[in-house]
Amino acid sequence: MSEKYREITNFVRETFGEPEEFIPLHAPVFAGNEKKYVDSTIDSTFVSSVGEYVNRFEEMLVEITGAKYAVAIVNGTCALHLALQIAKVERGDEVITQPLTFVATANAIAHAGGIPHFVDVDADTLGMSAQKLAERLENIAEIKGDECFNKETGRKISACLPMHTFGFPLRIDEIVAVCDEYKIPVVEDAAESLGSFYREKHTGTFGLLGTFSFNGNKIVTCGGGGAIITDDEELAKRARHLSTTAKKAHAWKYVHDEIAYNYRLTNLSAALGCAQLEQLDKFIENKRELAKIYADFFASKQIEFVREIANSKANCWLATILLENEIERDDFLAFSNSNGVMCRPAWQLMNELSMYDDCPKGNLENSLELEKRIVNIPSSVREI
Ligand SMILES: *Cc1c(COP(=O)(O)O)cnc(C)c1O
Repeated sequence: MSEKYREITNFVRETFGEPEEFIPLHAPVFAGNEKKYVDSTIDSTFVSSVGEYVNRFEEMLVEITGAKYAVAIVNGTCALHLALQIAKVERGDEVITQPLTFVATANAIAHAGGIPHFVDVDADTLGMSAQKLAERLENIAEIKGDECFNKETGRKISACLPMHTFGFPLRIDEIVAVCDEYKIPVVEDAAESLGSFYREKHTGTFGLLGTFSFNGNKIVTCGGGGAIITDDEELAKRARHLSTTAKKAHAWKYVHDEIAYNYRLTNLSAALGCAQLEQLDKFIENKRELAKIYADFFASKQIEFVREIANSKANCWLATILLENEIERDDFLAFSNSNGVMCRPAWQLMNELSMYDDCPKGNLENSLELEKRIVNIPSSVREI
């Protein structure tokens, strides 16, 4: 077995041209205008939440995603929280999401006052399964007027929050179709899928609202950052208003008309983000090339390498293999990490975390199986 593990780690080293050095899972690359733009915010003194880069950052996101509106937010978790509130998630409502996700997805539901309700993922996309969602709703949902309720708990189901895992697009059109039938608004957690398309439409643009993260480990980074996208002008205005303390526009008066947030991205962070977004296409091309090299290698070793499904184009943010079982996964992780090749398992499933272990859930067989087998391997943009 350890022979196989050595072959994998050696191949990763070869691919990154690093025979000796530590190889991180994903390191940011600053090869463009980062320093120039960040310096210019300092020179201008506009380092905080007002400034040309925040606006430019939003315009670039509109350009990249094809969404009508983008609102820059301080990080991806806050973007999710605000998007759920704008989608009218209220205290005590249920929000359907997947158990295989980063904890921020479930936390944002809780921050909005909601209770996560877990529906399984598809084994090929690693994202929410439309079929499992339809089956679950068939069993527990009841439509009253234009709202959907969980018959078992009596609670309103006020949103569905699927997540495009590791940048692989899920079958989002099918999720939206099921949710439309049940009158449930869809918010997409596209934190990991900037630059990923499904049926030639950008992830995050299928639901009522979509959100991104620009944390240091994502495909492009602001240091910390996030965004909400939508085609709905009113919702975009609401996102802008609530993220900036609900301050009414006035030349000099302080008037705030609701309890709101200080969630606006800073100009300093947006400057870094703009320089990064300029390189997004190059980064994706680079990562797709890496995915191809990995795919050929793992095929020759009869190891499962996760690929985008038909009709989709993934940003290939994090390369993912599926090992045989939990024992092999843990053995490989122990070997690779102690040999300077940083690899990581999937997140512990949300329904297994102490905060969420009594939340409602459907049959989670695929998530349970995948969690035991997923390993992310080094995926940084290589020398450009
Ligand atoms: C990174 C991430 C977030 C949160 O983003 P932050 O910017 O770190 O707050 C949310 N959901 C998923 C799936 C993520 O990977």
